[in-house]
Amino acid sequence: MTIGIDLDDTLIDTKETANKYLKEFIKDESLKDYHNLSKKEYNKFLNKYLYKIQKESTIKDKAIETIKYLNANGFRIVIITARGSLNYLKSKHITEKYLSQNNIIYDKIIYNQNHKYKACQKEKVDLFIDDKEWVLDEVKDHGIKTLKFLVDNETSKHDKVKNWQEVKDYIIKLWGG
Ligand SMILES: [Mg+2]
Repeated sequence: MTIGIDLDDTLIDTKETANKYLKEFIKDESLKDYHNLSKKEYNKFLNKYLYKIQKESTIKDKAIETIKYLNANGFRIVIITARGSLNYLKSKHITEKYLSQNNIIYDKIIYNQNHKYKACQKEKVDLFIDDKEWVLDEVKDHGIKTLKFLVDNETSKHDKVKNWQEVKDYIIKLWGG
């Protein structure tokens, strides 16, 4: 079985670090999410902080153990990320160094994916895990099983989990282990 995994806010707690720098950037507390910046400010923000965010964000709790477990039990892990749309080579270098330093085992990583269902189809992904509803909608529309990694108290039409222990339990329930 092949498990497809998103990086930011699924495997990695990107939002917390990004929002820390957002406070530094706008110096006021009214805006809570950098995605809500104007297009111009958003680009300015990423130019200034993107690599810091990629280097400093932490892996989510129990993710390393769960991925190790999946690897040991014969699952293939494919990371599918939107990273790399901006300065591909630098993002690739930072990301791969980061994953290796954090003992994340994976079989393949695919960058610069906005419409992730394409990579899911190509890699014959059996289950795809992501935090974005519209990304999962597209994947599910192409007949691939989806799992939503909840970041806040959201609702979702997909099966959902709150943490990596639940990811592990979900996969064991589906396919054993
Ligand atoms: Mg994400």
